[in-house]
Amino acid sequence: RAVDLAELCEASVDLLDIRAKQAGVHLAFLNSGSPPVVVFGDPEELARVIDNMVDNAVKYTPEDGSVTVSMAMTVDEVTVDVADTGIGISVADQGHVFSAFHRSTNPNALSVPGTGLGLPIAQRIAESHGGTLTLESELGRGSTFRFTLPLRSSRDEG
Ligand code: ATP
Ligand code: MG
Repeated sequence: RAVDLAELCEASVDLLDIRAKQAGVHLAFLNSGSPPVVVFGDPEELARVIDNMVDNAVKYTPEDGSVTVSMAMTVDEVTVDVADTGIGISVADQGHVFSAFHRSTNPNALSVPGTGLGLPIAQRIAESHGGTLTLESELGRGSTFRFTLPLRSSRDEG
């Protein structure tokens, strides 16, 4: 099915806006008002990936920090970046965050409830759509999660 990724980003930011405000975290979607960015896949699964990334970013960012969602396109793929100025993830933990039930050893992260299933599920969904979910992070400085999906021309739809 054709899914508008821009709309999913917008919806995700809207969904988590109240929680971000309560936490004193500035949340914004840089491409707000973007024309549709059409990918093919399961709308609920794709929404789940973005919701998870934004949920984590808000959860693991202290007061006065910011979470920025942005979208970029090349000829053949689209990326959704969720960048935060939060607690960050140590290099040791970075190898494990996509494993089921893993939660970082960072005490700042452990004070926030979670089951450690969000990212493994999100990564599995990304890969089942021919895409990837990756991360760059520096402990104490913040994290950027990148969701990449292939763009297909209408010729390939079949
Ligand atoms: P849930 O199943 O409710 O999503 P969770 O958020 O703990 O629980 P994941 O989303 O899989 O689980 O994330 C795994 C771990 O990675 C988290 O427990 C946290 O330690 C770390 N993590 C994920 N996103 C971030 C982030 N944006 N900043 C810092 N740490 C993060
Ligand atoms: Mg999570």
